[in-house]
Amino acid sequence: MSSVPVYFLSFFKAPSEEKDSLWCKVLQAKYEQEGGRLRFGEGVGSHWWRSMNDVRRSFGRLFDLAVDKNVSVADMFAAGWDLGGEAWKWRRRLNAWEEELVVECVARLANVVLQVGARDRWVWRLDSSQCYSVKSAYSFLTASDVNITASFVRFIWLKVVPLKVTIFIWRLFLNRLPTKANLRHRRIIEDTQTLCPSLCGKVEDSNHLFFQCEVYGRIWHLIIKWLGVESALHGDIDMHSVQFSGLGEFSPGSRQALSIIWSSVLYTIWCDRNCRIFSNESDSMEALVEKVKLQTFWWMKSCYALFDVDYATWRLRPWSTFQAIS
Ligand SMILES: [Zn+2]
Repeated sequence: MSSVPVYFLSFFKAPSEEKDSLWCKVLQAKYEQEGGRLRFGEGVGSHWWRSMNDVRRSFGRLFDLAVDKNVSVADMFAAGWDLGGEAWKWRRRLNAWEEELVVECVARLANVVLQVGARDRWVWRLDSSQCYSVKSAYSFLTASDVNITASFVRFIWLKVVPLKVTIFIWRLFLNRLPTKANLRHRRIIEDTQTLCPSLCGKVEDSNHLFFQCEVYGRIWHLIIKWLGVESALHGDIDMHSVQFSGLGEFSPGSRQALSIIWSSVLYTIWCDRNCRIFSNESDSMEALVEKVKLQTFWWMKSCYALFDVDYATWRLRPWSTFQAIS
């Protein structure tokens, strides 16, 4: 539900019993109920894999292997979904890690209690009335996003930075990039394939790749040297972003410029990492730093009318140009 736009819901007050209400229709569309088996008020029709959305999302591999993809919640319950229960029927023998998934799934279902005789219906759990209200949706969205927003809002509203880079930064803050650690977590690659492409010997997760890797770390070292600053930088994204954008002076111009440079470094690392993995090509760290300087120069040029600076000045005395940015 959190991804249903709140503005869309805000026009309509929708009691949970009303199946024709807008928010119920949104739910039906989102969870593909239209051709499925969820029927309001008919008690036992809910589709197991589609209605138990969390189960479906977290255990996609089990869904792929299930014999009956249209089985209802009631049938699963009747057959028994404990470990070894009759409800679990697979197209083939499960291997060890798939068995572990079943154990995990069963553990999660241990807290699910079905009320025999109760009718199926949508319930808005954020309001005691069980009906949708704008107030409850708004407070949920603002409360759940408050920490994340505070740390990255400055970086995703940089008008200088191209949209694809902004999206990349946003995904990085949410840890949604397809780093090897994330791919391993989703069981797409094996344990043996998770090493950092810089060949440093560590596992590639996002904090490692961008902030802790001793190979890519040289870029940060060269960049702060270029800026004329001495500092050891943090190894985690939230601390690093705050620290880097606050280096040196605290004028709005320098904050802005440093946030732009920060985004450029990260995007450059990500592109080089992809080249190493997919094209087997790589640049030296010095060359990557030059890319950052050139890239940020053109971003600034194309956006700030007052950034009337030649490239040589930008390369030699970046600080002297920051007042032209605001
Ligand atoms: Zn590394």
